[in-house]
Amino acid sequence: MIDSDALNIPKSSFPRVVIVGGGFGGVALAKELSGKEVQVVLLDKNNYHTFQPLLYQVSTGGLEPDSIAYPIRKILQDYKNFFFRMAELQQVVREQKIVVTNIGELSYDHLVIAVGSETNFFGNIEIEKNGMAMKSIPQSLNLRSMILENFEQALLTDNLHERDALMNFVIVGGGPTGVELAGALAEIKKGILPKDYPDLDTRRAQINLIQSGDRILKEMSEKASEKAEDFLESLGVQIWKNTRVTDYDGKKVSTKTKLEFEAATLVWAAGVKGVSIKGLDAENFLVPGNRIKVNEFNQVVGDSNIYAIGDIACIQSDTTPYGHPMMAQPAIQQGTHLGENLVRLFDNKAMQPFKYKDKGSMATVGRNKAVVDLKKYRFQGVFAWFVWMFVHLFFLIGFRNRMVVFINWVYNYIRFDREARLIIRPYQRDYSKFNEPRTSKKEV
Ligand SMILES: Cc1cc2nc3c(=O)[nH]c(=O)nc-3n(C[C@H](O)[C@H](O)[C@H](O)COP(=O)(O)OP(=O)(O)OC[C@H]3O[C@@H](n4cnc5c(N)ncnc54)[C@H](O)[C@@H]3O)c2cc1C
Repeated sequence: MIDSDALNIPKSSFPRVVIVGGGFGGVALAKELSGKEVQVVLLDKNNYHTFQPLLYQVSTGGLEPDSIAYPIRKILQDYKNFFFRMAELQQVVREQKIVVTNIGELSYDHLVIAVGSETNFFGNIEIEKNGMAMKSIPQSLNLRSMILENFEQALLTDNLHERDALMNFVIVGGGPTGVELAGALAEIKKGILPKDYPDLDTRRAQINLIQSGDRILKEMSEKASEKAEDFLESLGVQIWKNTRVTDYDGKKVSTKTKLEFEAATLVWAAGVKGVSIKGLDAENFLVPGNRIKVNEFNQVVGDSNIYAIGDIACIQSDTTPYGHPMMAQPAIQQGTHLGENLVRLFDNKAMQPFKYKDKGSMATVGRNKAVVDLKKYRFQGVFAWFVWMFVHLFFLIGFRNRMVVFINWVYNYIRFDREARLIIRPYQRDYSKFNEPRTSKKEV
């Protein structure tokens, strides 16, 4: 039952801005509003901010999850008139200017939707059920556990065919996430698996990266795509271009080109869509990809008190017909800009339109291997890898996290290791599709 006073936010003479989502956009906005004559209530379903660009390192045992997560309360603790509630937004009731959450209702003067995006399986229920997504820390930990459990299981079967399937990986989507994950898995295969599993022929493990288009990293320059492909191939990753995955039953991966793969692990990194919000889910609010249509001030079209920023928001213009890229920089810049605009609004000044400053894009494939496209310069290799590391450390929230990640990277670099390969929270997948493990018969 919903209690309307459950959030316990005091009344204030200042306008109340409710921000839903403590990701890149929500946090940038909160920082911009600190010290201003406003009451800010930040809601998030988690009590931490997630640095998603390094999720793949959690999945592959390179980093512990707490080094890429940061308590939202700690971000806000020095700001006056700021309140955080761990709450999941369920509905926006525009007529009454309230949000409905799992812990109660809350009224707003201005509402900012910054809930980001979720994995888009494009309606394929079987792939969603049997494949793995990597959009949150719990999902990354599931993937880490499952990868390790598959190898433990591979040790238990006599059937070579089944053993190969347990050691094979299929990664769908040749964007930065797919490329980075494939590179990390290839490094594990080369440097760690032979030592950890001396009684398995881990050379037989395959890492397949499947891309529906004709090049990987298609949002980057052709040179970056070519070089990333070279890097991946040098690490032993098999890249399948112009190949569209159509089905996955937990073991067999089917494609439109009739190519088939047998793999116990399929990671779906082939698309995201905006998180659906009841009350803002009618067709007139949305563009394809479930993003909320906003004007150049990030105002939801048709409601001047509601704003959307980051992945969930789409500012359509002649130069951005599909909105801005669903990446950290647009979210951060929109959060900061909306903060400035709200202050202008409270001062009875005109709001300014959002202008995106493209700072370039980058992806890493592995040690000493990265590709960077800046506005004026493009480079690949060792220098690009250092730039990639520097940028990621810079944008991580929290001094401790930066230090922990830096020390881990130095350690992993020197020792060729990834020590967080731990099954802390077993994933417990159903292995019935694979050969019966030798031990299970005796144990039952
Ligand atoms: C694996 C991966 C790798 C990536 N790598 C890069 C990269 O290298 N470079 C780059 O620029 N971008 C990268 N991105 C994209 C980038 O992380 C996103 O574009 C960015 O996080 C968007 O910021 P946001 O503020 O819109 O949303 P998010 O950062 O996703 O934050 C949304 C917040 O809303 C909360 N939330 C969601 N639903 C609700 C609800 N109903 N109620 C309450 N709270 C809710 C979530 O808990 C979360 O804290 C990557 C993404 C992933 C998944």
